[in-house]
Amino acid sequence: MEHAYDYVIVGAGMSADAAIKAIREGAPEASIALIGDEREAPYQRPPLSKDLWNGDTDDADIMLETERQDVDMYLDRSVKLVDRAAHGLRDSEGDLFRYKRLLIATGAEPNQLPIESDRVVHFRTHDDYRRLRELATEGQHVAVVGGGFIGCELAASLAGNGVKVSWLFPGEGPGAGRFPEGLSEFLTGYYRERGVQVMPGSRVSGGKETDHGVELTLEDERTLAVDAVVAGLGVTPRTELAEAAGLRVDDGIVVDARLRTQDPDIWAAGDVASFHAMDLGRRIRVEHENAAVSMGAHAGRAMRGEDAAYTELPFFYSDLFDLGYEAVGVLDTGLEVVEDWAEPYQKGVVYYLERGRVRGVLLWNVWEKVDAARQLIAMPGPFDAKSLKGRIDKG
Ligand SMILES: Cc1cc2nc3c(=O)[nH]c(=O)nc-3n(C[C@H](O)[C@H](O)[C@H](O)COP(=O)(O)OP(=O)(O)OC[C@H]3O[C@@H](n4cnc5c(N)ncnc54)[C@H](O)[C@@H]3O)c2cc1C
Repeated sequence: MEHAYDYVIVGAGMSADAAIKAIREGAPEASIALIGDEREAPYQRPPLSKDLWNGDTDDADIMLETERQDVDMYLDRSVKLVDRAAHGLRDSEGDLFRYKRLLIATGAEPNQLPIESDRVVHFRTHDDYRRLRELATEGQHVAVVGGGFIGCELAASLAGNGVKVSWLFPGEGPGAGRFPEGLSEFLTGYYRERGVQVMPGSRVSGGKETDHGVELTLEDERTLAVDAVVAGLGVTPRTELAEAAGLRVDDGIVVDARLRTQDPDIWAAGDVASFHAMDLGRRIRVEHENAAVSMGAHAGRAMRGEDAAYTELPFFYSDLFDLGYEAVGVLDTGLEVVEDWAEPYQKGVVYYLERGRVRGVLLWNVWEKVDAARQLIAMPGPFDAKSLKGRIDKG
């Protein structure tokens, strides 16, 4: 079949939803198609690892209601090819879509463990959540692999639901490399107190399915038998379409200040896009909700002709049991780290400094200070520990 649209969006995720809403706002008559390889219309991903587990929301509430925007949705099929010269796409059903303007919002895919088993979930989608719910019932033993934000959230959510959790990661503590050492150490104890078997220094090298579950093998040859495994090992941007179409890719799809690729009719947004963050003075790719939504909306407006630069510095948030944080910019303990605690590891602000400039701010249980953090990052400085402490009200 052949279709023709004013706007075609590839990837039915959070960025796509924001783009479609922004296009529709200024172009009520335009024809819009959305093509996505998941079975479902766009939904919010962040609740998959927290709110859906603690009862703060349910499955119906996470849907973004993109269909209200009068958009033709082609789900459960993937785009295989972009033919830029013909302004056309080919999908896995063999359909051809002609576009006037195209947005690539294909997100990122989870990195994989080298284990073949449907008891191993590489956590990203609503279906992955459903599968983990089936596997991780009360009393089951589940290995959470990965010490980043997905691992931190899932270890807390599963433990909070009566699941026996072993949490494995190669670093010295949760969030190592991002959180200051003391905070990371505190988190290890905090999770242990809540019944999680925290196993730092554990790198999974392989494993196999057994009659009763999965046996993991670690690099140091230890083994661990569990009922199921959930992995949060970071993600890889889904750039393959863009690459094959000859678009510039450098970690993510390279876009300009208007979120446009080097092709004047193709934009990219969200986890898959690499953009220049003005206030950080460098190109970055952000794998977080605020970036996905604000870039999607910006790209949508740009596609219908608004001419403005994307200047937002995205923030990130997470919840771990009853702790929570927001963060802006670069969290890297390789930078100079300035800690300003109101109460150690319960409430405080951490600044990440590079040659006197603030590059990142972690707001630990400190709320409504994201804009203050952004302003600080935009300032030329120079700053040091003395001038930073107390700069953002830590409450
Ligand atoms: C479990 C979880 C918890 C999270 N929690 C937080 C949080 O607390 N705070 C925060 O800030 N961020 C969080 N995030 C990150 C946030 O959800 C992502 O940054 C955001 O979803 C990215 O949106 P996106 O539209 O760029 O990509 P996605 O939402 O990944 O959407 C991309 C879509 O494109 C589809 N696709 C890819 N290639 C093709 C193709 N060729 N054809 C058709 N379809 C294709 C994909 O299957 C996917 O459905 C979380 C993410 C996960 C997975």
